[in-house]
Amino acid sequence: MIIVLKPEATKEQADELLARIEERGLKSLYMPGSERTVLGALGDERVLGELRLESHPMVESVKAILAPYKLVSREVHPHDSVVSIGGATVGGEAFMVIAGPCAIESKEQFTQTAEQVKKHGAHALRGGAFKPRTSPYSFQGLGIEGLKIMGEVKTALGIPAVTEVVEASDIQAIADHADALQVGARNMQNFRLLKQLGECGKPVILKRGMAATIKDLLLAAEYIVSEGNENVILCERGIRTFETATRNTLDLSAVPFIKQRSHLPVIVDPSHGTGRRELVEPMSRAAVACGADGIMVEVHCNPPEALSDGAQSLFPDQFAAFMQGLRPFVEAVGKKL
Ligand code: PEP
Ligand code: MN
Repeated sequence: MIIVLKPEATKEQADELLARIEERGLKSLYMPGSERTVLGALGDERVLGELRLESHPMVESVKAILAPYKLVSREVHPHDSVVSIGGATVGGEAFMVIAGPCAIESKEQFTQTAEQVKKHGAHALRGGAFKPRTSPYSFQGLGIEGLKIMGEVKTALGIPAVTEVVEASDIQAIADHADALQVGARNMQNFRLLKQLGECGKPVILKRGMAATIKDLLLAAEYIVSEGNENVILCERGIRTFETATRNTLDLSAVPFIKQRSHLPVIVDPSHGTGRRELVEPMSRAAVACGADGIMVEVHCNPPEALSDGAQSLFPDQFAAFMQGLRPFVEAVGKKL
């Protein structure tokens, strides 16, 4: 529920209303503006209905928040959120490219790849240390060893880095070595993990589950934000359909749909979205055109030898051309690469 106060309402009167909201076990929001203060009340619909703030002399209007997701919706927060990953920003006018291998395989492989993507203009590195693989016989990632490699390489190069978290017990170790934690498609609805990420103090990249609706994705983001972490970036990475020509079907309509309803930055992963390196560039251009705030792309120093996702990983020189080709598209939509 959104409660707009009259222009003459004082801070004390706002505090008194906030206390009334909290007394009922509801979550309160305080949003001072240049002309009016707006309050929010979130929680059980029946309790909200009993609040009856309309009759308060300092309340101008009360409006229900129609979306099932509240804190991530534009109804509560009309302007674009800008999120910083170790000093690199995404959202608003800031376009971000996150690039790197699917998995950290060795110090040499990660260093070589990281040097190349940094040289060609990536804003942040990616690389999995804990890999959620479909088969238990596939490479599972280097774990803590991989995190240490990430920490060393990102520090040496002076570039932020993101990596996936698959278990709540790893959050602290990951937060110690990376600038943002990624929740993969397979964990998008691991609600206990999401709640704990709400308290981790680092930005979270939340990838859409392969069978998740857009509403599911936004409600998953709401779990993180409602625990106090507003630094959430959504990532469209393709959904499962009957199509087999591509690994997933990259649902680009999700981008403007979400952007119209949520203030969170939305990035697109054309690597997992298509599974084919030759589709990465055209789909990235389309992602920029439909309003994406960034791209997460897999690049490997030697894709034919990659331990995971080689077929969708760009060669370093392809990444260089990709960045050059992307720039006019990003500029055409009024953003900065
Ligand atoms: C990844 O980004 O490495 C990954 C595993 O992606 P997803 O969770 O989208 O499958
Ligand atoms: Mn991958």
